[in-house]
Amino acid sequence: MADAVRVVRKLRYTFSSGRTRSYEWRIAQLKQVWKLVDENEDQIIEALSEDIGKPPFESFFAEISLTKDSCKVAIKQLKSWMAPEKVSTTLTVFPSKAEILPEPLGAALIISAWNYPLLLSMDPVIGAIAAGNVIVLKPSEVAPATSSLLATLIPQYLDDDAIRVVEGSVAETTSLLEQKWDKIFYTGSGKIGRIVMAAAAKHLTPVTLELGGKCPVIVDPTVDLEVTARRIVAGKWGCNNGQACIAPDYIITPESFAPKLIDALKNTLEKFYGQDPIQSADLSRIVNSSHFVRLTRLLDDPKVSDKVIYGGQRDEKRLIIAPTLVLDAPMDSLIMIEEIFGPLLTIITVQKMEEALEVVSSFSKPLAAYVFTKNKKFERQVVASVSAGGMLVNDTALHVTNHHLPFGGVGESGVGSYHGKFSFEAFSHKKAVLYRGFMGDLMARYPPYTTRKQKI
Ligand code: NAD
Repeated sequence: MADAVRVVRKLRYTFSSGRTRSYEWRIAQLKQVWKLVDENEDQIIEALSEDIGKPPFESFFAEISLTKDSCKVAIKQLKSWMAPEKVSTTLTVFPSKAEILPEPLGAALIISAWNYPLLLSMDPVIGAIAAGNVIVLKPSEVAPATSSLLATLIPQYLDDDAIRVVEGSVAETTSLLEQKWDKIFYTGSGKIGRIVMAAAAKHLTPVTLELGGKCPVIVDPTVDLEVTARRIVAGKWGCNNGQACIAPDYIITPESFAPKLIDALKNTLEKFYGQDPIQSADLSRIVNSSHFVRLTRLLDDPKVSDKVIYGGQRDEKRLIIAPTLVLDAPMDSLIMIEEIFGPLLTIITVQKMEEALEVVSSFSKPLAAYVFTKNKKFERQVVASVSAGGMLVNDTALHVTNHHLPFGGVGESGVGSYHGKFSFEAFSHKKAVLYRGFMGDLMARYPPYTTRKQKI
């Protein structure tokens, strides 16, 4: 507690000096973030391998590269993001000029999750720096090697009076949450998201909550089967072995088409991960034994165990579960109620495609929804009627790489968004400024409010 108080006091002192507001400070820190990642790629890959057994290719593509890209975009765009936006004015205040001036919120707390422990820590940090804030980053204790690496590297590269790492779990995060912040940015589960939002409410602190949910994939029979299967497999098992907030959670497809789709998925899985996938070096392991137990509980549920149509192999010692397909699990089974967040994928069959929309709306709003179809009318219907944080047509997961799109949830999948300019906005206040001179003072606005004035 005393540590949290000291850190926040120090950071606030720096913020009040005004140093983090300047373009020069922001750009210098952003360049240092880029350098931090660039000069330590091998150590980062090693830490991610230690934490989650993440394959180096995935570490490079989904953590290192995306973090560096975010940095590059911020460095390139910073001047334009910081520039005041001129807006029109109205007759009531004629003559005047109006603008929206982005200003830093102040002290930002960033609490991140374990599954992409570099990206989910540094991406919001980049937004908070770009917006001119002082920052405490609390990485996830569930990825200890990456947390410790960030705690070592950040003071070496970034301004220690303005950007701090506090490592720890519940006790340390609780102490941090008791402090007054100007912004809290949280990535993780909805359960803890509620604790974060309640703590923020005490100080009326604005929050961004990047949460999860069950991401659906609707597949109609018009699709190119091989491409569809490849893209579903890549977005599920190629993203941290399913331990990703935007990984497909369940597929909905017509009963008559399901056998073809299932065959295509099985063939693709075998091509990608071989006959004995628990030996594959291209799949992350389950992060720890409590998540391993959570996932095996979903599979061993008596309502589900006879619905497993592919995979199901596991190695408890090495914390590995093979890619697994489950067909038509009952809607009241745990696997259909909880977010899976692992290598199990369920398939729900329907009689008509229209029923797919009813299935999706029976769950809370997901972070991402996917539809595979060549039928433009059906595509439009799905895009217009499904409410989700983001949507991707004929692919999975890749929408997060487009920094022109906001990334965030809706309803139970999150509050607010970030990426690209949206990250800058997440950590900025849009200050409304109206400029007037001393000319054109309309006397009708001032008392006494005579009958004649009221008629104007
Ligand atoms: P989590 O909620 O267990 O942990 C996230 C953070 O919260 C960690 O830093 C942890 O130390 C902290 N924390 C844990 N218990 C706490 C408590 N009692 N009080 C205060 N802080 C606490 O989440 P997780 O297991 O790390 O992540 C999995 C979830 O996150 C999934 O639901 C997934 O969908 C979601 N997620 C969302 C995104 C996104 O970008 N929207 C990204 C990754 C994960």
